[in-house]
Amino acid sequence: MKSSFRDTRLIQDTREAGELLARGMLVAFPTETVYGLGGAIDQPGAVEGIFAAKGRPADNPLIVHLVERSVLEKVVLAIPPMAQELMDQFWPGPLTLVFKKQAWVSSLVTAGLDSVAVRSPANPIAREILLECKCPVAAPSANRSGRPSATTWQSVLEDLNGKVDAIFQGESCAVGIESTVVDCTGSQPELLRAGAVTLEQLRSIRPDTVVLKRTHAAVNSPGLRHKHYQPQAKVILVNDLSRIEPKKDAGMICMTPHASAAGFGLYVQVSEMERYASQLYEFFREADRKQLAEIYCEGVPTSGLGAALMDRLSRAAES
Ligand code: AMP
Ligand code: MG
Repeated sequence: MKSSFRDTRLIQDTREAGELLARGMLVAFPTETVYGLGGAIDQPGAVEGIFAAKGRPADNPLIVHLVERSVLEKVVLAIPPMAQELMDQFWPGPLTLVFKKQAWVSSLVTAGLDSVAVRSPANPIAREILLECKCPVAAPSANRSGRPSATTWQSVLEDLNGKVDAIFQGESCAVGIESTVVDCTGSQPELLRAGAVTLEQLRSIRPDTVVLKRTHAAVNSPGLRHKHYQPQAKVILVNDLSRIEPKKDAGMICMTPHASAAGFGLYVQVSEMERYASQLYEFFREADRKQLAEIYCEGVPTSGLGAALMDRLSRAAES
């Protein structure tokens, strides 16, 4: 049997990263949301390689990353006015838009759908790499499927050493949770996944934006079916922290300080919602490194960024 081992190199040169991608190699790189595991969609074998490296189910479509308008036009059939308005306001940035796809875009990328999800990241390293490579790059989160997304290159290495060709040693991700996904293939924008671009912000540009009901999510956004964002430790969402007894085999992440912080095996207090989002996945991973049995996460109000945060927290807490 052909070995799937890849000699994983740590790199710091965006030109080298772009060249490797253009040759069909797998390269993990930083974006403002989470680290992405990139593969050029026009290179044979690269997209298959992404699914193999992650252990990702084939019915979970990938987000295509690009910088230039000319590359976008190669990938999508048309750019509807609602998409143009959202792009004008939020690109580059943590917003993924779903378009009708061009016929050549592999159904492996889109999990058999006739639509394709596209994003133009703001992170300057990601942009340099994409410009260098010149081709559209599928880049799901750079973690083994089912694990929390990686927001540092060290966490990418922890999951994907020997499975990818290169990992770019960038900074930790500023946003820390995955992009907002909006479907622009219908008559009005439909929010499929909450993220750093909030529903309130979307509606300030397109007041007709609707929210996908979770019962329909499996049909319209296949990836939402799968288990996601889960550490080994049991995740427990709490609203009243004062009822939680400290334990050395438990962790806590919160905004409200706990009276016995030192009693937990891992304790992270964040000052604001943005910090909560950017610290969350690394907190999950650290809890697993310490082999904690359970972790308590303080709930937040579901307005603004809180909607995305509570989406990730409640999925992590699903059994
Ligand atoms: P990620 O796992 O962060 O790479 O995000 C990929 C997610 O984007 C998938 O799980 C879907 O929810 C969504 N997505 C990707 N492509 C499509 C598409 N063509 N139509 C609807 N949702 C999509
Ligand atoms: Mg993911």
